[in-house]
Amino acid sequence: MLFKSSKINEFRLWGLLLTMLGMGLMVLGTAGIVFWGHSGRIVAAIGLVVGLISMMGSLGIYFWAGMLSTTAVQLECPECHKLTKMLGKTDRCMFCKTILTLDPAKANITADELELRQSKSAQDVTTN
Ligand SMILES: [Zn+2]
Repeated sequence: MLFKSSKINEFRLWGLLLTMLGMGLMVLGTAGIVFWGHSGRIVAAIGLVVGLISMMGSLGIYFWAGMLSTTAVQLECPECHKLTKMLGKTDRCMFCKTILTLDPAKANITADELELRQSKSAQDVTTN
């Protein structure tokens, strides 16, 4: 994980970055013709090819993310109580970035314990 975000969001981010990169390369390549005239054509060709590959890659990532999100587990985040999606056994909440896990061995706190702690802290607020 490069960023502190959920896996689905990260896939979307990479897809977007690759699309931007591909479009940028294609635009720059075409601009090469304007700036360098005839000799800029080779730059334009390389830019177009690399840009196209990058955009195809981003399409692949989007497709993959779409496939993955159909197998994602939808659940209510115990921390912020919003509906989020999980990929694999451990993922972050899409909204509050809390690390969630389905593996009891990896969890340091169960949903029940969290509930208890939250109701306790709510009580503390009302008593203070
Ligand atoms: Zn959350």
